[in-house]
Amino acid sequence: MFMTKLMSMHAARTYLAALSMCLAGCTTAGSPTARAQVPAGGPSLVVLGIAQDGGVPQAGSFGDPRWDDASRAHEVVSLGIVDPRSGKRWMIDATPDFRRQSLELYRASRGAPKPVVDGIFLTHAHMGHYTGLMFLGHESIGAKSLPVYAMPRMAEFLRTNGPWSQLVKYDNIALMPLAAGEPVRLADDLTVTPITVPHRQEFSEVVAFRIAGPARSALWLPDIDSWEEWDRQGTRFEGVLRTVDIAYIDATFFANGEIPGRDMTGFPHPFVSHTIERLSALPAEERAKIRFIHFNHSNPALDPASAARAAIRDAGMQVADEGEVETLFAYERPRWMR
Ligand SMILES: [Zn+2]
Ligand SMILES: [Zn+2]
Repeated sequence: MFMTKLMSMHAARTYLAALSMCLAGCTTAGSPTARAQVPAGGPSLVVLGIAQDGGVPQAGSFGDPRWDDASRAHEVVSLGIVDPRSGKRWMIDATPDFRRQSLELYRASRGAPKPVVDGIFLTHAHMGHYTGLMFLGHESIGAKSLPVYAMPRMAEFLRTNGPWSQLVKYDNIALMPLAAGEPVRLADDLTVTPITVPHRQEFSEVVAFRIAGPARSALWLPDIDSWEEWDRQGTRFEGVLRTVDIAYIDATFFANGEIPGRDMTGFPHPFVSHTIERLSALPAEERAKIRFIHFNHSNPALDPASAARAAIRDAGMQVADEGEVETLFAYERPRWMR
């Protein structure tokens, strides 16, 4: 089939999985489009964006051919959490691409169109991760008490700085406290737990999230300064990896030299090449949990035909795809799909 030839192996698998889900239970009548929805039996994750805060392509990169090829453009990093049993859906981070991402999440979710989302979990106060909150204000959606889960400094930042403070004052958003290591329960068998990570903290704490469902769990970690800094703080990434089935992690830059004329050694993100090297001694099943996200526009691994992408594949790891669905319950794919 010609489509699969155009897609990476992983994208092809995602496409086929989505197709099988559709065959397993999609209703096209009454649904907004004929797109695949998450399977009905339990909670799932939907990847809504894989780009770094600035998006792909980035503002000002006027010569970037991806402006004219939507299939190679990417939205800012965000994860949807969907529970078809309750019809609810949540987002990790509110990005500048919130308009389209909230639509994609609704289409995947089997839920009602309102509220636009049932809650938003914020990782930190860098531009790609919270500025989508602006769409909840009265210039746009005019949300009513939409739960926004935030760590203490993050919540204080929103409460005390315009224009965000207006969202609080007009009750567009209801700030919900997060504490490191303390799970927020979205259903009896679905929790979201913040984990503090070392990353520039000018305005807020920075957290990753562990999302645990009835049978499977995932880590969402878009930004970290370095794995070794985390070691020094007493958390080994390899230990966290053992506790999850999927780990979506920081892939901002592939390697030093990626940005012409800049020495990138001090850049506050682990290079993908370093992550591959660090995890190379792990068993294959641990490495297979890795899905890279948060790609800077300069990252060559965004191109499925690149040597960088091949290196990720050779390491037994993957690049996350927008639209990719992972179930958090024991979902049996049809036999022909396996
Ligand atoms: Zn970021
Ligand atoms: Zn950041």
